[in-house]
Amino acid sequence: MALTDITRVEIEKAMAECDRLGREAFLAHHGFRPARQHLLLHHGRRYDSKAILGAAHGYLPGRRPLAAAEFSGGAKHAVALLKGLGFEVVQDPPDRALTQAQLLDSVVKMTTYRFAGRPALYKPITLLWAMGRALRDEPRLLAWTETEQALAALLGRHGAHGEKQRPDYPVASLCRDGIWTLPDHIGDVPTAHGDAKLRRWFAEHRPRGGLAEPVYDLFRHSAVTRLAVLDGLLGTFFDGLDPAPLLADVGLAELDQEEAAPAEPAQGEQGRPEPWLSLAAEYERGCRLIEQREARTGAGERDPRLTHRPKRSQAARYLVLSRSEGRCENPGCTGQPADVTDGRRPILEVDHVLDLALGGRDHPSQMVALCPNCHAVKTRGSTREELRGILLRVAEERHRSVLLRARPSLT
Ligand SMILES: [Zn+2]
Repeated sequence: MALTDITRVEIEKAMAECDRLGREAFLAHHGFRPARQHLLLHHGRRYDSKAILGAAHGYLPGRRPLAAAEFSGGAKHAVALLKGLGFEVVQDPPDRALTQAQLLDSVVKMTTYRFAGRPALYKPITLLWAMGRALRDEPRLLAWTETEQALAALLGRHGAHGEKQRPDYPVASLCRDGIWTLPDHIGDVPTAHGDAKLRRWFAEHRPRGGLAEPVYDLFRHSAVTRLAVLDGLLGTFFDGLDPAPLLADVGLAELDQEEAAPAEPAQGEQGRPEPWLSLAAEYERGCRLIEQREARTGAGERDPRLTHRPKRSQAARYLVLSRSEGRCENPGCTGQPADVTDGRRPILEVDHVLDLALGGRDHPSQMVALCPNCHAVKTRGSTREELRGILLRVAEERHRSVLLRARPSLT
C-alpha cells in the first residue's frame, strides 16, 4: 500500500471523477459507503474523504484504486492524510450528507399544498424553473429580488389552481424539504405558510438562495435525472393539464419531446476513464429512479388518483436509446435506414416488448430500441409472437450487461 505516495494531483483527479460520475455512482463504483462525518471540502463542494483517497490511489502510476476494506485506519487516518496535503476537511452532521437518490426521492415526494383536492403547482413550477436554469449553466444562487420577480411572473402565468403570486411559499417549503438552500441565513425559515409572517420574513431578510448543490449538479449534468424528475412531476401534478406552455417558458420544452434522445456519447478525454463508465453509471442511476417511480405507483398499475392515462417514462425511453448506441436491438435486423433525423440521431423507435395494459413494465429491462421495419414486424408481422420472445430476452440481457459495467459486484 502506498497511500502516503498520493499527492494533491491524484486527489484532484479523484474529485474530478466523482464530479463526473455523481457521488452515488462514484461510491458504488469504488465500493464505499457515504461518509458519515468527515467530508473533504474543495471549491465549495463536499466529497467523501475516504472514498476519494481510495480512488486517488488508482491514479498513481501502476496502482489500482483501493476499496474501503483494503486500507485501515478508518476515517481519521484519511482525514489526517488529506489535511497533510493541505486540503480542508469538514465535519458534517449526517442528515446534511444526503445521497443523490435520497434527494431525488425527496424531490418527487415533496410535501405539497392542495387546493380543492388538487396539488398546488407552486413547488413544481419553482423546481422546473430552477431545473431550466441549471441546464443552461446559470448561477445556482440568485438574489431574492430576482427569484421573487421570476417566480411571481411564472406563478401568474401558469398557476392553474388559484395559486397566488407568492414565491415565498414554495421557497420556504423546498428549504424544509432539503431541496433549496438560503446559504446566508442561519436558523429556521418560519414554518407557517399562507400568512403574513412568512411574507414579512422574506421581505425583511431578502435571502439569496437556490437549489441545494447536489440537486443543482444533478439537474445540470444528468439528462436522465432531469427526465426522471420531469416524469415524476408531470405524473403527480399535471394530470389533465397541458404542461407544454410552462415547459416552454422555463426553457425545458425539448425535454418533453419525443425527440428527447441521447446525443452522441461524450468522447473520453485524456487521462479520464472510458466514456462507457459514465454511461453505465448514468444508466444505473436512471434505472433506480424509474424503480422508485414504479414503487410509488405500483408496477404496471396506474395511480388511481389520475384521471388520464399516465405518460410513459421519458427517462426509461432515454436509457434504452443510450443503451442501443444508435443501433436497432433486434438481433435479426436486416438493416436500419441509413438516414438520420433532423437532430442527427438514428431513426429508432422505442418499444415496450410487453403491452403495459397487459402487465408489462415501463422499465428498460422490458424495452428495446427498434428500427421502423423491425418495429412493424413486432407490431403486425406474422412472426410477431416469436419475435416478442426473442426481444424480451435481448432487453433483459442488454439491460443486465450495462448494469454489470456500472457495478461489477452484481455478479
Ligand atoms: Zn431493425
